[in-house]
Amino acid sequence: MLRRMKFQRLLLPALLALPFSVFAEAKVRVSSFSTILTEIAQQVGGDRVAVTAHVKPGIDPHEYEPKPADLKTVSEAHVVLLSAKHMEGYVGKLKQSTGTKGALVEVGDGFASLKMKPEPGHEGHGHATDEDPHWWHGLGNMGKATTIVREALSKASPADAAVFSANAAKYQTQLDALQKWSRAELAKLPRNQRKLVTSHDAFQYFAKEHGFTIYAIEGFSSADQPSSKKVAEIIATIKAQGVKAIFSESIKNPKVLKEITRETGAKLGGELYADGLGEGAAATYEGMYRHNVTTLVNALK
Ligand SMILES: [Zn+2]
Repeated sequence: MLRRMKFQRLLLPALLALPFSVFAEAKVRVSSFSTILTEIAQQVGGDRVAVTAHVKPGIDPHEYEPKPADLKTVSEAHVVLLSAKHMEGYVGKLKQSTGTKGALVEVGDGFASLKMKPEPGHEGHGHATDEDPHWWHGLGNMGKATTIVREALSKASPADAAVFSANAAKYQTQLDALQKWSRAELAKLPRNQRKLVTSHDAFQYFAKEHGFTIYAIEGFSSADQPSSKKVAEIIATIKAQGVKAIFSESIKNPKVLKEITRETGAKLGGELYADGLGEGAAATYEGMYRHNVTTLVNALK
């Protein structure tokens, strides 16, 4: 034991100059700017990664701005995970001001975008794009994101590639089981009840997988406030479509939703998690997704 310590002391300075992967104990340092990607990195990486969650559960990712401490962590990261699809307006700042040599992985750019609902009269609303950034509500996208994260981790630490593959396969099995469960649950809803009225347009990917039509009260950013004209349109639509319930989100102020329920007689269906993981049962992806599906089924059946 003593001999081993002495050996380490002598060799450590030389070893520090080598790539980190030569250390059996060294972990891949991951900086994550998405609660969803934090979970994927932890699941795929297991004890071979050290993940820093910059965007914590319950934080609005649309409003988030990195602080100096975040930039310092990013500058030392091997892998930086971003939602992409224009969620992180600060991505240029991360690249430039941190000088990180880590791989910046813009995960959401790895698969197709769905468009937000076009809003006549709302063009040029201050958004650079009309694509829905909330890709994680599609389980197909979650599988693709898992593959992208696995590849990034394997590139950073090739010696651990087999471990990452096994972990990713296990996580994919959980996602498959979740898809099977959600299809069975949502089968309780007739097709003509699959109408989702929500306070920000965050569920295009979910809607596509499960055959819902979306009537969003605002645009896709939770910073938006709906105009009174838009609210009047939504009230007319809810009446015409016979929508039974409308939904708010854990992060949003439900004031406008209350006005709409009063005018239409539709009930408040409960809170949906739109922008990432939350607390308690919604602290995991599976818990969040189950919460959303159960809330929808209970309110609309
Ligand atoms: Zn959002």
